[in-house]
Amino acid sequence: MLEFAEKSCTIKIDTSKCDTCETKACADACKKFARGLLGIDDKGRASVAHRNEEEVLRLGTECLACEIACKFYGNDAIEIEVPVAGLNEYLKKRNLA
Ligand code: SF4
Ligand code: SF4
Repeated sequence: MLEFAEKSCTIKIDTSKCDTCETKACADACKKFARGLLGIDDKGRASVAHRNEEEVLRLGTECLACEIACKFYGNDAIEIEVPVAGLNEYLKKRNLA
């Protein structure tokens, strides 16, 4: 499991799913729609190991392109958590939680 933080979200990637992924669509999407933060390591898995923490924070645009690309063209391995302050309280108030 790979987990890293961008400015206001956390990206979790089940990299065990990358082994059978033929498209590696996440990295292409990050390059096309963001700044190419996400790469593929020599085992064929999604990785940011070639970046240091400062680069991850600076280059991450929180665009969600990798998650969408992986869901539709990869193996559905990426989950991005975006905390929204007050959302749980709002849902409870509306009986939606
Ligand atoms: S597209 Fe998804 S499954 Fe494929 S390499 Fe990227 S994260 Fe892994
Ligand atoms: S959210 Fe955007 S910038 Fe961040 S890793 Fe995914 S594609 Fe790249």
